[in-house]
Amino acid sequence: MSYTYKDIISTLRRTGCKITPQRRQIIKVLQSSTSHLTPAEVFEKVNCNSSGTGMVTIYRTLEMLEKADLVCRFNLNNGHTGYLIRRPHQHHHHLLCNRCGLVIDLEDCHLEKLVKQVGADTGFTITEHSFELTGICPGCQQAENDARSSRVGIST
Ligand SMILES: [Zn+2]
Ligand SMILES: [Zn+2]
Ligand SMILES: [Zn+2]
Repeated sequence: MSYTYKDIISTLRRTGCKITPQRRQIIKVLQSSTSHLTPAEVFEKVNCNSSGTGMVTIYRTLEMLEKADLVCRFNLNNGHTGYLIRRPHQHHHHLLCNRCGLVIDLEDCHLEKLVKQVGADTGFTITEHSFELTGICPGCQQAENDARSSRVGIST
């Protein structure tokens, strides 16, 4: 379950963030999306219904949501950054589908031991780590198989 619109607003209120109508619009767009959105996609969707929300406001709002631990941020294959309203738990990793953009939260982190080891080996105080897996989801694999078999059907 991801956060509801109400959860997000009340969390932001608690942390003393100002909630402007433009921010509300951005949060609504993010909240109603099941896949990740790039800042440019947020911009497009926000300006569908209302106008006058600039890119700067979108970046600032995304930054604010990230600081409040309300959105997942990850790197997309095309070099863009995607955002998704975060599931209500803390540290986790992501599995992304290259084809359709499906994102799965991997709830268990198995990297603590490795992180400790690397810290000990290098003398670093390691404060953060990220780990993302990309691939092709079962749905896209199925679609590819179907496309392939229908192509074979036509050529024979
Ligand atoms: Zn997929
Ligand atoms: Zn996540
Ligand atoms: Zn981790």
